[in-house]
Amino acid sequence: MQELNYDRQLILNHISSHEIELVGSVADEIGRECYVVGGYVRDIFLGRTSKDVDFVTVGSGIEVAERVERRLRHATLAVFRNFGTAQVKWRGMELEFVGARKESYSHDSRNPIVEDGTLDDDQRRRDFTINAMAICINRDRFGELLDPFNGISDLNNRLIRTPLDPDITFSDDPLRMMRAIRFATQLNFEIFPETFSAIERNRERISIISKERITDELMKIMKADVPSRGFVLLDRCRLLELIFPELAALKGVETVNGRGHKDNFAHTLQVLDNVAAKSDNVWLRWAALLHDIAKPATKRYDEKLGWTVHNHNFIGEKMVPRIFKRMRLPMNEKLKYVAKLVGLHMRPIALVEDVVTDSAVRRMLFDAGDDIDDLMLLCAADITSKNREKVRRFKENYDLVRQKLVELEEKDRIRNFQPPVSGEEIMATFGLPPCSDVGKIKEAIKNAILDGKVANDHDEARRFMLEVAAGMGLKPVADAEQG
Ligand code: ATP
Ligand code: MG
Repeated sequence: MQELNYDRQLILNHISSHEIELVGSVADEIGRECYVVGGYVRDIFLGRTSKDVDFVTVGSGIEVAERVERRLRHATLAVFRNFGTAQVKWRGMELEFVGARKESYSHDSRNPIVEDGTLDDDQRRRDFTINAMAICINRDRFGELLDPFNGISDLNNRLIRTPLDPDITFSDDPLRMMRAIRFATQLNFEIFPETFSAIERNRERISIISKERITDELMKIMKADVPSRGFVLLDRCRLLELIFPELAALKGVETVNGRGHKDNFAHTLQVLDNVAAKSDNVWLRWAALLHDIAKPATKRYDEKLGWTVHNHNFIGEKMVPRIFKRMRLPMNEKLKYVAKLVGLHMRPIALVEDVVTDSAVRRMLFDAGDDIDDLMLLCAADITSKNREKVRRFKENYDLVRQKLVELEEKDRIRNFQPPVSGEEIMATFGLPPCSDVGKIKEAIKNAILDGKVANDHDEARRFMLEVAAGMGLKPVADAEQG
């Protein structure tokens, strides 16, 4: 057998904490074998600390949890008798307890039939070798590592591999396919070739997994340092077309008369990573992922212009709610934010291509509001051309727009623009009921301010209002004017 390379002292350092020692001694009192298992053990060797600790006892875990709760000050206990599990929360930590179990699966559900089992049974039901290690915390074996599937060597070689036959592992619980890709992405590990080919073979099984679960894993991929890794893997095993067909549709290059367009999938992933390198805001990352989502739907070949994708930003903006709904992503202000950025993502670049007028920059500032900085970040991330000269020109112009933004914002206070003359004031001035004329006047004032014809202040805007209204044949109500 291979000599495993791990540091015993490292284990002892991690598990010699008040709460873990207490769990061990409580288990000793009632004569139960007890182990720390799963992600917590893996993370010890990865040098990550975690606030969630999973304990497995041979025999019920609930009794151990109840006794632990009584011995920790201000701890809270939750018991889930149906599942045979219990949770103790203490000082920001979550201690999870479960009895060792053996699982058997039926074809149409990822919920197994569960029986009591040995530690060995429990380790065999776990998804990956690196997640199947256990450390004994009973006093006489404190710190002993049980690693039946060589998880340590897979950790050293940075490999995701199932402990048992991967076809059975993935068919039993297809969520594990998503988990494999998620861990590979988060940890920057490879998926072992036989494990990976089993994902390809079993990909259709994903249909028994709920959308919520799939999206949970996608969110973890999106939050990783280099999220593109996950999407490349999803594409390679062809899960992508099943769980995210719109994204899969971005793939490939079509050529007409020798003219190809860029591969929008590769481009999108580059933009996603560019954004991820600059921002942890997962919703900005979603905007990056979806910014060109309507390119396949809008792509046309024109003899004169070559490839065009007219309005792909607006069509994309409309696609976002459908995608969010299907994926059970939040249908709230996060959705609005992502859709808005998708709709606006061309705007700074469009400014860059022509002359940069104050009016265009003001309008962009007005439309983006507080999200202007995120929009500019997305836009910079979107410059991925291989043509150096093009990139240089874009960057130069981009900086110009940035500079203008700062100047105009200081001067005009446009970001959180509130029209300086309200609808009420317009109605009172001309004795009007709420009607389309009021809207027209308001719109004219807004445009005049954004175009820089009128300053963003009340008195100037009011003078302009009187002018516009006169042009429409409206006169101020005399007493309102004097009062
Ligand atoms: P993290 O919490 O960082 O996402 P983790 O490894 O702790 O990673 P959890 O989902 O908290 O993941 O699960 C804890 C442990 O339970 C895992 O390490 C693994 O041993 C086991 N496990 C979780 N989900 C499954 C599954 N679908 N199939 C088999 N084992 C699983
Ligand atoms: Mg965990």
